[in-house]
Parts: sequence; structure tokens; C-alpha cells
Amino acid sequence: MSLFCCAVPHSDLVLEAREVAGSGEHPIKKMPTRVNALEKMAPDVMVLTLQLPANETFQYKAGQYLEFLLRDGKRRAYSIATAPEGGAITLHIRHMPGGLFTDQVFSTMKERDILRFEGPLGTFFVRDDSDKPMVLLASGTGFAPIKAIVEHERASGSKRPMTLYWGGRRPQDLYMDALCRQWAQEIPNFSYVPVVSDALPEENWSGRTGFVHQAVIDDLPDMSGHQVYACGAPIVVESAKRDFVKLCKLPLDEFFADAFTSEADLQQP
Ligand SMILES: Cc1cc2nc3c(=O)[nH]c(=O)nc-3n(C[C@H](O)[C@H](O)[C@H](O)COP(=O)(O)OP(=O)(O)OC[C@H]3O[C@@H](n4cnc5c(N)ncnc54)[C@H](O)[C@@H]3O)c2cc1C
Repeated sequence: MSLFCCAVPHSDLVLEAREVAGSGEHPIKKMPTRVNALEKMAPDVMVLTLQLPANETFQYKAGQYLEFLLRDGKRRAYSIATAPEGGAITLHIRHMPGGLFTDQVFSTMKERDILRFEGPLGTFFVRDDSDKPMVLLASGTGFAPIKAIVEHERASGSKRPMTLYWGGRRPQDLYMDALCRQWAQEIPNFSYVPVVSDALPEENWSGRTGFVHQAVIDDLPDMSGHQVYACGAPIVVESAKRDFVKLCKLPLDEFFADAFTSEADLQQP
């Protein structure tokens, strides 16, 4: 992965970029927002519900994210976890101990606090010009934009097959497992594969084990006719991209992703 936002060219450079249809569909705005609710879904996952100003409209595509504008020009990105049809904006925030923003979310933040954000941002949304079956790959809170995507596909009456692989280290990391199981019952074109890598014996995990992207490889050795939407920990997203293309014949341009890159990742050599 190349992070051109923090790269410095040493000579003249020409970059080729594919234009993404739909990326500029909704205006990017800055606005204040009020924290309407904070709900702990797991020991390290908080669901934040935001209330937007009554006089503002905020449109976005399912899968996009917003950035909170913090002091000193710092920004933190969070994927929107509700479909545009879904009403209130919610975010799924995982605590990174020592982190500037998430330490605040898990300690001092309270209802009615005011934040500022900019959005919608990003190109992680479903390409509607395809009818290929979709593999939705989420690690941890990477489930947030995937949730928005599933809700949006359902609301729009899409019949495209969707299989969600949601991976975590422990069962509690799949903090909305019950909702996914409910979707699998209710949405005919949706199926769900939870995958846990480090369950404790006393958790009695009886589902799939190991790395979540490996579960996809085991189930779909030929992905030449699929599209993949992957989100969450950078290591999971990068491993999935590399192995799906190399081992499973996934065309490179059918892999779409948002890696949750943090300060810690950016400091790594
Ligand atoms: C497009 C996008 C979407 C995202 N969506 C989500 C989402 O929906 N949910 C979610 O939970 N996260 C998401 N993230 C990640 C999120 O933006 C933050 O990076 C994350 O929440 C950590 O923010 P923080 O301010 O708490 O921690 P930071 O201050 O960024 O620190 C992160 C970690 O690095 C450590 N650290 C800080 N500075 C250094 C340093 N110099 N050297 C070594 N370690 C350091 C901190 O102790 C901490 O553990 C997304 C990221 C991107 C890019």
C-alpha cells in the first residue's frame, strides 16, 4: 500500500489514477455534531450516535467515512455504520490505549458533547455497475462500513449475493454477531461466516477458527468472478489483497478496501 498523503517525491512525478464513479456525488462538508449516545458493545468497542445540526443536510454513500477535527489540526477517521436510509449516524470505535481520540471516547466523553467533523470521505462503497457476488471481509470494527453496506443493499432491494466474513481475536470482538445471524435468516442473498483466531477454552467457541482472510481462501479458491470489499486492521486488508489476487485469481481491480491505518501504523518503518 502507498500512502501518497505522507510521501515526499524526490523528483518530478506523474501519477495515474482511475477516477472512481460516484466519489464526488455528495458535497464534503464541515459541521458540528452533538454526541447523542455512547453505548459500550464490548469492553473495547463503543458505539457513538451523533446528532447533526437541524439546519444541515449530510448525504453520503454506504461505506464512506468522516473525520473528526481535533485540536492542533489533528484528524481521526471513522466509518459511518448506518446506511444513508437509516436515520441517525452511528460509529463503531475501538479503544486504542494511549490514543489521542479513543482514550477520550472511553474516559471523559459524555452525551451532549460537541465535536466537529468533515465528510463524507472515501471511495469504499459498492460498485453498482457490477452484479458479481460480493465477499464482505471485516476485521473488528471494520464491520462498521460493512454494516452500512448490507443495510443499504437490503433497503435498495439488491439481489446481489453477499457473504460476510467477520473476524476477531475473541468472540466478543464480533460485537454485533446476533445482528449478522438475524440478517442471515432474513435476507435471502446474505450469508454470514464468523471467524475467531484466539478464543479462550472457557468461551466454548464452536465456529470457524484462524485468520479471517484464510477462511475466505478455504471457501473460495477461485474468486475470478467475485468482488471483494475489505475493511479493518491494515494487516488483514493487506494479507487479503495479496493472497486473494495471488492464490484465488481475484482480479486486482475487484478488490476494494479501507484499512484502518492509525498513528502506530504510520510510525512503523
Ligand atoms: C479510512 C479510515 C477509517 C477508519 N474507521 C475506523 C472505525 O470505523 N472504527 C475504528 O475504531 N477505527 C477506525 N479507524 C482508525 C481511527 O482513525 C484511529 O486511527 C484510531 O481510532 C486511533 O485513534 P486515536 O486518536 O485513539 O489513537 P492515535 O493517537 O492515533 O494512536 C493510535 C495508537 O498508536 C499509539 N501511538 C500514537 N503515537 C505513536 C507513536 N508516535 N509511535 C508509536 N505508537 C504511537 C497510541 O498509543 C495508540 O495505541 C479508521 C481509519 C481510517 C484511515
